[in-house]
Amino acid sequence: MGAKLLETLNLPNPLDRYDTLTNGLRSSPPAPMNIRIGNGYDVHRLVAGRPLILGGIPIEHHLGLDGHSDADVLTHAIMDALLGALSLGDIGHYFPPTDPKWKGADSIELLKQVYGLVQERGWRIGNLDSVIVAERPKLKPHIATMSQRLADVLNLDLDQVGIKATTNEQLDAMGEQKGICVHAVALLIKD
Ligand code: MG
Repeated sequence: MGAKLLETLNLPNPLDRYDTLTNGLRSSPPAPMNIRIGNGYDVHRLVAGRPLILGGIPIEHHLGLDGHSDADVLTHAIMDALLGALSLGDIGHYFPPTDPKWKGADSIELLKQVYGLVQERGWRIGNLDSVIVAERPKLKPHIATMSQRLADVLNLDLDQVGIKATTNEQLDAMGEQKGICVHAVALLIKD
């Protein structure tokens, strides 16, 4: 319907409203976003002669995760999710695997440092969620312990720390027990 006809019929032109709305948004600065989401992913190889540590918890298994630090793949993915939410880079930037300082490092201690960066900037964690992809060992019996450990370190309630475990249905490297990978997301809030 043409503008002229709308005017003749004494009807509001929807484009006028659109312009008003657009100008209104342009004239006031956008409110700063007070929530942020971050995504993290990590994978480590399963090898003989290494401990298996997930979420700071040692887990009985004949294979462990290989890496420069303790190779706690769950904690690493969560750290990357936290850093990602604030565009602070990734854990390789803060704890490079080429630096002997981090050899055998307890990833929970690294997580505390990353959490410190989040807090320094005035953010708190709304919630975390993660999926561990591991064919073996069965992780269900350990999930509550891992959640509690991470909740303690990050001052969170248990219902703010989501940890899920799935197999890869024997497909690809995870399914062939060559490694364990983790996908994680973190929601940050600024009050
Ligand atoms: Mg890693």
